[in-house]
Formats: sequence, C-alpha cells, structure tokens
Amino acid sequence: MAGIRSWVESANEGRTDFPLRNLPFGVFRRSGGRACIGVAVGDRILDLRATAEAELLGGLSGEIAASCEQDSLNSLMGLGRDASRALRERLMEVLSGQPAQGRVESLLVQQADVKMLLPVRIGDYTDFYASVYHATNVGRLFRPDNPLLPNYKYVPIGYHGRASSVVVSGTEIQRPCGQTKAADVAAPSFGPSRSLDYELEVGFFVSGGNALGEPIPISEAELHIFGLCLLNDWSARDIQAWEYQPLGPFLAKNFATSISPWVVTMDALEPFRVPAFARPEEDPALLPYLNSEEDKARGGIDLKLEVWLRSAKMRAESADPVRLTQGNLRDLYWTLAQMLTHHASNGCNLQAGDLLGTGTVSGASPDALGCLLEITRRGAEPLQLPNGETRKFLEDGDEVILRGYCEREGYDRIGFGECRGVVRAAPSC
Ligand code: MN
Repeated sequence: MAGIRSWVESANEGRTDFPLRNLPFGVFRRSGGRACIGVAVGDRILDLRATAEAELLGGLSGEIAASCEQDSLNSLMGLGRDASRALRERLMEVLSGQPAQGRVESLLVQQADVKMLLPVRIGDYTDFYASVYHATNVGRLFRPDNPLLPNYKYVPIGYHGRASSVVVSGTEIQRPCGQTKAADVAAPSFGPSRSLDYELEVGFFVSGGNALGEPIPISEAELHIFGLCLLNDWSARDIQAWEYQPLGPFLAKNFATSISPWVVTMDALEPFRVPAFARPEEDPALLPYLNSEEDKARGGIDLKLEVWLRSAKMRAESADPVRLTQGNLRDLYWTLAQMLTHHASNGCNLQAGDLLGTGTVSGASPDALGCLLEITRRGAEPLQLPNGETRKFLEDGDEVILRGYCEREGYDRIGFGECRGVVRAAPSC
C-alpha cells in the first residue's frame, strides 16, 4: 500500500529509494565511531543501537533488541523471518507516528555523513547461473553448435565463490593479474587481465539456516531468505577462459565481488512478487523437490535492474554515466527458492548471513544483457560511448554502477540504492 507517511519528509518523496515501506537494513559508521546497524529512510538512517538503547523497541523480544546492538546483521538474520518482520513493523511505527517524533529525531543520521560497511560477516558465498538467456548467450560464444548444456533446465547450476573478497559498494576494484592464453599462441603467460568485465546480479542472504544433513523443502525456502542486495560479480574473461575447465570459475572471479550496502527485505518486496518464469511447454518437467505451485505462482520478483558506466574521461568531462542495460530479475529461469532448496538438497548446511548470487541477470532483448561479454560478443562488437570512446571490456578508471528498483501502480516505489566500483590499474605483475 502507498500512502503511509513518515515524519522523515525525504521518505515521502516519490523518487526516493527508501520510503517507509522499504526500510532496508545496513551497517554504517560515523566518523570515528563504531559500526552500527541501521535502516535507511529517505536520506537518513535510523540508528538501531540507539533505538534499542532508547527503549523504543518495546513489545519485541530481548533477542531482537540485542541483535540491533550488534555490528553486523548476522544475529538478526539468525533469528529468522518472523523476527525481522516484527522488527521492521515496529520501526515503521517508530518512523510514522508513535512514539513522538521528538524522541526519535536524535537517533537519525544523514546518509551523506556516514560510511557504509559490509552489512554481514559473510561465512560462505555461492554464485548461481540462473538466467537462461545469459547461459545461452555465453554458451553460444564458446560452443556455437551447442550453447546450452543438457543439464541446464534440470539443475540450478552454481559454484562456490569466495566470501573474503566480497566488498561493499564504493570499494576500488584492482584489475587482477593472472594466467591467460590467447588462441593463437602455444603457451600461456602471466599478466594483467585484458578482458575485465562486470556481471549484473542480485545477491540474497540466508535467514535462519539448516542443520547439516537436513535439506530445506521448497515450501519453506523463503523462510530462509532474509533479503536482497545488488551484486557485481567482477570477472576476468581471459583468465576464466583458460582456467575454467574442468572445475569451473576460480581466480577469474574471486579477486572481488561488490555488493550494495542495503539489504531489502523479502517483506518489503511482497507487493512486487510475480509468477516464476514461464517454462516453455517443451522444457523438461521440474523434479519434484524443485516443484511447488506456490513458487510457480509467486516465485518471481518484478525488480528492474540497470547497469551504468562512467569512464575516467567522462568523469573528467563531468559527463553523466551512461546506461548500458535495463533488465529485470523476473527473467531468471530459476527462482530464489529453487536455488536455495537445491543448495541444501544434499544436506549442505546454509548459515545465517551466507550470500547467494543469482548469476548474471540477462533478458531476451538486446538492451537487457547483464555483462560486456554478451553486449560486445566477447569484444567482437565494441560498445560506443556517447563521447566517442569504445569498449570491448572495462578499462582502468571505468566506474560501473548497478541500480535496482520496484514499481507498481498503487504502491510506493522502493529502490536498492547503488552498487558502485571503479577499476584501478593492475599492480606490476
Ligand atoms: Mn556470476
């Protein structure tokens, strides 16, 4: 529903990413201060440690209040979906009327005045490959006759990524060095990647979790999803092409993964749920453990996703970033619930705060391709920027900005903020 107003005026402006109906969770630090959990509201952040200390979380359990005084969202994520929903509803009351505005105003900080940190201590990070358009486009570049491998429509494909190199938006991305081999030479060499790419993805964080050996049925999968963020899976295509067989991505991916600082809850996304991807008639039937009528009816999320690029030259000319892509999360072949259920289906234990990535989100149309590998067809068709520059892949100084938002008639627009990163030159290698 639209129309519930906050006394934080900036939360009521139509274009804000953070109306009262969003209230994404994040972790911030004031200059010289300690890390605090907060929720974004308009251009402010409500400090949840201070809110708990001011005893404004009355009616909630002591565990919930205690989780608000931590320096990461792990404790809150560990309490499960009911706890975060109750907290979010209480915070909506705090920011819309009761208690009196005067008591709460001092607990707000300006977003512009703080530094955002990683919201979670990420234990494990897994990246999927859930867009059939991306999988087909990439497959076609490497295997023109056989673009989509025969397992794709049966099994949500993924690989274990690296949690230690997940960084928050704004962190510079150093071009990696690595081993590459051009097609026309006999032996590989070691040096800076010449095919650095971004991948437009969405990340989702585990809530609750499961014990080792106890799978999560698809009917319960969403109880184990806390919320979503934007994710850029930086990828060195030349390193990837040489190293990926037979065990999959390794150093081409694990040098950096950027995420946006705000985690938008599944509750905030509720009005934007849509049916899962319509699997064509001729596609194989889902295996029973991945099949659910409810997931089919509302397993998708109508989340618009964009990639923007700004080169160093554009920055020097004060030119605005240029949009490269407009995609939508609803175009994924696999739902979040299917990815999570599949992940735990062998008894693998997911833990609160684990990060799962969707894989590159690409759609059917040419303006909905989620990485340069697809847009430029592996460099064969360079991209033209408005100032005359061209790109096959990313150059040093390029800034990549991901944005995401949900809109629906009759509901407040909610946004994800941004996930940004500037490419820094490789070290000498
Ligand atoms: Mn990826």
